[in-house]
Amino acid sequence: MSTSARTAIIEHLGRQHQAMIALLSELVNIDSGSYNKRGVDAVGDRLRTWLEAAGIPCETIPDATFGDCLAARITGTGGINRPIVLMGHRDTVFPDGTAAQRPFRIDGNQAYGPGVADMKAGLVMNTFVLEAFHRFGTPCPLTGLYTSDEEIASPSSRPVIEAEARDAGAVFNSEPGRPSGNLVSRRKGAAFIEFEVTGRAAHSGVAHAQGVSAIEAMARKIQRLHRLTDYDLGTTVNVGLVQGGTAVNTVAARATAAVDVRFPTLNIMEKILGDVREICRCCELPDSESRILREGKFLPLEQDEQSRQLLEAYGRSAVDLGFQVAAEATGGSADSGFTAALGTPTLCGTGPVGGNAHRDDEWCRIDTIAPRAQALALTILEVANG
Ligand SMILES: [Zn+2]
Repeated sequence: MSTSARTAIIEHLGRQHQAMIALLSELVNIDSGSYNKRGVDAVGDRLRTWLEAAGIPCETIPDATFGDCLAARITGTGGINRPIVLMGHRDTVFPDGTAAQRPFRIDGNQAYGPGVADMKAGLVMNTFVLEAFHRFGTPCPLTGLYTSDEEIASPSSRPVIEAEARDAGAVFNSEPGRPSGNLVSRRKGAAFIEFEVTGRAAHSGVAHAQGVSAIEAMARKIQRLHRLTDYDLGTTVNVGLVQGGTAVNTVAARATAAVDVRFPTLNIMEKILGDVREICRCCELPDSESRILREGKFLPLEQDEQSRQLLEAYGRSAVDLGFQVAAEATGGSADSGFTAALGTPTLCGTGPVGGNAHRDDEWCRIDTIAPRAQALALTILEVANG
């Protein structure tokens, strides 16, 4: 690619600040909780309309339960076949009505609103980067992948992500940049397991001995689960939800709980999940029964040599543009773990800088949207031509 095309892309992206904010405001003002298929699809429709108006073809990968996935595709002109994937999720953790309660707003350098940083600003950034390459030409094919259910561990998007990433030259996941401006080089993997204990109901005054308390069995399990936490190893186990019983004077016939398990590597994952599942399923008290109801899982993002090189390429691009970035580890999990586990070089946290994700005071630094779009574009050029 010529120096003039490279310069044209950077200058073009530098002029898009207002247009980026306009699209971001529209996306934030659409409620799109993970279980709100209509809302998640409405965000997809808005992006599709925008991309198609720019002349970029889009493909919908439908899902009956969760939002559809959307893939925007640009063909390369440089004779390179392996595509680079720009990835992001359209769902948020916020319930319906949140966008009306606290719509998109800007205060100084920061924007607020549900999902503004995690990760609608990242979607906007990826979209504008795709458009710039479509306009001025790209050495390799580019795919913009907009997924639908990351906040609940991507039950429907994971196979789509893996199919797109398997043959890709690189994946850039535009989760928010850290408050420091840093990217993310390592993420813990996570599993969410919902399980149930059943016992036998009995009047707690009249027939206590005939009862089998599901709550007692559950309480014992919770203690065993929490003892699996090992900070030195980097594994944590947290039962975050419990429910059980029907009345204070009834021996509880049923209890349910949900446990969050975090682990730093694929090796550790098998061992810790084996231990957790065993506790969730075992019979804690005679005549009680336990079973796992649901399980969701994120793989850890581990940094291999190729991913480290990707980070270095991004770092050089940032320096070219006048800023510095490094990378840090986080306990939060994301779709980037799935692509890294396939062996595809993956860089996460390339999105605009933000913080307080999943909270009412979530913020995004709007003055970082255009610069990070430029840094991503330069990195794509370097990787494609390298
Ligand atoms: Zn996210």
